[in-house]
Amino acid sequence: MSLLVTGSIGIDTVETPFGKRDDVIGGSAVYFSYAASFFTPVRLVGVVGDDCPKELLNVFNGRQVDTSGLEIRKGSKTFRWHGSYLKDLNEAVTVEVDLNVLAERAPKIPEPFLNSDFVFLANTHPVLQQQTLANLKSAKLVVADTMNLWIQTERAEVVKLLAKLDGLVLNDGEARLLTGQKNLIHAARDVLKMGTKFVVIKKGEHGSLLVSDRDVFVLPAFPAEKVVDPTGAGDSFAGGMMGYLATQMSLSPATLKRAMAFGTVVASYTIGDFSLGGLSSITREQIDNRWQEYKLAMSF
Ligand code: AMP
Repeated sequence: MSLLVTGSIGIDTVETPFGKRDDVIGGSAVYFSYAASFFTPVRLVGVVGDDCPKELLNVFNGRQVDTSGLEIRKGSKTFRWHGSYLKDLNEAVTVEVDLNVLAERAPKIPEPFLNSDFVFLANTHPVLQQQTLANLKSAKLVVADTMNLWIQTERAEVVKLLAKLDGLVLNDGEARLLTGQKNLIHAARDVLKMGTKFVVIKKGEHGSLLVSDRDVFVLPAFPAEKVVDPTGAGDSFAGGMMGYLATQMSLSPATLKRAMAFGTVVASYTIGDFSLGGLSSITREQIDNRWQEYKLAMSF
């Protein structure tokens, strides 16, 4: 099955108790694509400004990521995000965000991408997410992510988007913000009422929760000993999950749960280093080995 992703591609500045990195490659679609490409080819649709240093975009060299949907828009500026984890390694505080090109129109989807089966609308402006989705008529599974900024500033558009999705992936704070519910099961059920068939709530070091009409399922996080920079953990989780799903013949609840376990394992590598450092130093074999280790750690 073909897998298309759209979302942010940005230049990040990140501070954690382990140091600071200025102007590194980031963005939801970047982490997602890299993570998913361990499992399946990825079609990336995104936009940067003509100020984006070329070498930042070289991260996909040698990966099975088709970047023909990556637009470099003349006269526009690249999305920038400055995040800090100095207070709490589990929660990013946005120090500064410059939407720049994300406040403009959605990038054009290349003709050969229009037949994509699986679609992931990674975190970006909900209007751009909807514009992209409107062109993907043959999608069999559509899943999206969003974040507090959009829930606070573009709530009506987020709610409109939800009605068009099969699944939503978001973190615990965002689920509470979106629904006003403290209890995460209640929050997830309220999201289902807004139109999705399933919702996955990410809880950082406390793992993840899947809720659908027929299931409530929980997974712990992989017990990682090295946490340097959590940026991109959520996008990598989604990339591992969707990448694995795209290789499977069925979309059964059991397949979805296995996919979440792959997402968990991939995210555990992302947090071990800054930017894409954690993912760029591993192989698919290491992911599979850690997946077995994770499975064993949970059996009793
Ligand atoms: P995650 O840690 O998985 O939630 O994602 C971190 C990535 O999200 C960073 O690389 C940022 O560039 C990107 N990001 C931060 N804020 C936004 C936003 N408002 N819209 C889209 N992407 C964002």
